[in-house]
Parts: sequence; structure tokens; C-alpha cells
Amino acid sequence: MNKSVYISLGSNMGSKRENLAQAVELISNIPGVKLKNRSSLYETEPWGKTDQDKFLNQVIEIETSLPPRELLKELQDIEINMGRQRKEKWGPRIIDLDILLYGNEVLDDPQLAIPHPRMRERLFVLVPLAEIGADLRFPDNGATVREVLSSVLAREGNRGIERV
Ligand code: ADP
Ligand code: MG
Repeated sequence: MNKSVYISLGSNMGSKRENLAQAVELISNIPGVKLKNRSSLYETEPWGKTDQDKFLNQVIEIETSLPPRELLKELQDIEINMGRQRKEKWGPRIIDLDILLYGNEVLDDPQLAIPHPRMRERLFVLVPLAEIGADLRFPDNGATVREVLSSVLAREGNRGIERV
């Protein structure tokens, strides 16, 4: 049974646009994965650690027969194959691939938490996600992506996130 899964992509090193394109290509080539939709690209200010280059962010929707942990392993292999080095938390990265939503599943494991624990605060996730899935509901509390995005925007404004 295929599940609809949303993945966020981010890059702030090297040819960011090419990094995202390459990652989308590699994800769509994973056996058992079908690319369904992709958002525009958004340029965003770095988060957490702010003394680094801007990010380029995107969200894609796939359909997959892979269970969540197998999908995460495939995404981590892509990160490593693309040359990502795991040095500092929230530091610069060639590519970061996070699973945001996996069907209606809720997982509470540090190795794989779904919905992604920090996605509801992150405009660089919510804005591209809303572009392709505004009416999606969070499986844990039933709020829609549109509602969560509106409340973050009302609280913080649009902190330098720009469609490119
Ligand atoms: P971040 O994405 O928060 O900047 P990393 O990409 O270095 O940090 O990921 C750190 C760890 O987060 C990974 O080893 C992974 O096991 C874990 N993790 C937990 N939930 C998820 C998720 N939904 N998607 C991707 N990684 C996750
Ligand atoms: Mg990550």
C-alpha cells in the first residue's frame, strides 16, 4: 500500500539549486518511490546558527511503498553520497533531507519522529509545504498546514523567506 510522504530539502553550500535538483532526481530513482509533486524553491535566512550562507529550500511529495525507517535510510544514503559531512548541528550543509509527514503516521522516536518535531515552527518548511499541501492535516492534532502557517505568520511575520 503506497503512502503519501512529504520531504523537505535544504541546501546552503555550493550550487544550491543544482544540489536540490540532484537530490530530487536521486529520490525519484529510489526503488519503490514515485515523485508526485514539488514546490517552488525558496531562499531563506539560516535558522539556529545564523552566521552562515542563506538556504535554498523546497518540499516534495512522493508516494512510496517503503516503510518509514527504510525511506529514512535511503535519504541518509543520498545525503552521504552527495558529500554531506555531519559536523556541527545546524551548520552548513550540501543537502539536508527530512521526512515531514508520512501518511497519517505518528512516530515518536529520536531516530525518526513524524511529524517532524520542529516543522511547525519553521517557515522554510511551512511555506513550501503549504504551496503543495495547504489542506493536509497533521495526524496528531488535526490542524491543517494552512492553519499552522497562518498562526506562525501572525506571530512572527514572514522572516525573509522569498520564492525564487
Ligand atoms: P536537522 O535536520 O535537524 O538539521 P540532521 O539532518 O543532522 O539534523 O538529523 C539529525 C537526526 O535526526 C538524524 O540522524 C535522524 O535520525 C533524526 N531524525 C528524526 N526525525 C527525523 C525526520 N522526520 N526526518 C529526518 N531525520 C530525522
Ligand atoms: Mg535532517
